[in-house]
Amino acid sequence: MRKDWQSICRYGKQILGKIILTGDRPTGKLHIGHYVGSLKRRVELQNSGEFDQILIMIADAQALTDNADNPEKVRQNIIEVALDYLACGLDPEKSDIFIQSQVPELTELSFYYMNLVTVSRLQRNPTVKSEIQMRNFEASIPVGFFTYPISQASDITAFKATTVPVGEDQLPMLEQTKEIVRKFNAVYGETLVEPEILLPDNQACLRLPGTDGKAKMSKSLGNCIYLSDSAEEVSKKIRGMYTDPNHLKVSDPGTIEGNTVFTYLDAFCKDEHFAKYLPEYENLDALKAHYQRGGLGDVKVKKFLNKVMEEELAPIRARRKEWEQRIPEVYEILERGSKKAQGLAAETLAEVKRAMKINYFEDKELIAEQSEKYRNQAAE
Ligand code: ATP
Ligand code: MG
Repeated sequence: MRKDWQSICRYGKQILGKIILTGDRPTGKLHIGHYVGSLKRRVELQNSGEFDQILIMIADAQALTDNADNPEKVRQNIIEVALDYLACGLDPEKSDIFIQSQVPELTELSFYYMNLVTVSRLQRNPTVKSEIQMRNFEASIPVGFFTYPISQASDITAFKATTVPVGEDQLPMLEQTKEIVRKFNAVYGETLVEPEILLPDNQACLRLPGTDGKAKMSKSLGNCIYLSDSAEEVSKKIRGMYTDPNHLKVSDPGTIEGNTVFTYLDAFCKDEHFAKYLPEYENLDALKAHYQRGGLGDVKVKKFLNKVMEEELAPIRARRKEWEQRIPEVYEILERGSKKAQGLAAETLAEVKRAMKINYFEDKELIAEQSEKYRNQAAE
């Protein structure tokens, strides 16, 4: 891979470059929220050649923090997420795809980081707060779930990631990670690398709403268009999508804000799509203006959205179908990626333990000092 030498920094004994770490929980198939929020960007970054290392994690251990009683769900969804990755164009020659639980070093790092974070700090995390509510965990929060932002800090820092391309809901996790890095480096000496979050440029992609108009498309809310949905399923979901509830007749003026169909157009549509599918409008602004004036029906807008989305989803669907016939190979890719990730995480863990001075057996000075102390005592 091409190295941008100016971006390469010297860190400790290692020379590091630009490193990406990101991932998804195997709690279901991936949806278009994942795609516009992170997946599409990952593939672009991968193909830019500007990164020295790209690590993509299937976060099964994190998924178990709120699915402890349903490990089968997590187990079955690992392959679904991996297939979605490959379908979107993640290339195992350029990106290492790995499974979180197969890198036990991550758990060990979390155990040490836990000493650097307070309970009240975790309680302030807005994403965790809303997820606790969503899962009705208020009365009894599993400790693992409550502390998952710490585990995420381990995932990121274990690989000295510089860049984390994710959706907006991950901002508090990145803040927490940075705090842990600063605290660790202040207490034990410069060891860890502070990562930067990479949010989507497009406002609509920060947090894509569900087809029901709810704030976030989420596997757990059942309001998703999946990357693996058939063309018929996508078309049906688009036909049933939430729009402006007061736009009853075609002639009625309509509202754009909070109108999910227009949010999806913001996320997916380019000017070229108008020339191709709806030449009577120059661009999305012209379509929006007509809708706001009145005289433009939801059905027409939805049909257009369907065509725009199909252009992006059809090739993904076709590539998925091919990979579905190569399951053993997909598991080999995951195993290879996990071994590579483990090697990298082990290096960081060794540095962490050295910095914390819990590397007793390789600490010759400690052994020499103590043996001298007792030899002197014996001689007195
Ligand atoms: P779960 O409900 O199990 O938490 P999820 O749908 O929230 O599932 P995650 O695996 O938690 O998905 O998120 C994976 C990545 O996808 C994260 O980077 C997250 O920011 C991004 N993401 C998830 N949903 C959306 C969305 N609706 N819009 C934009 N990005 C999203
Ligand atoms: Mg989530």
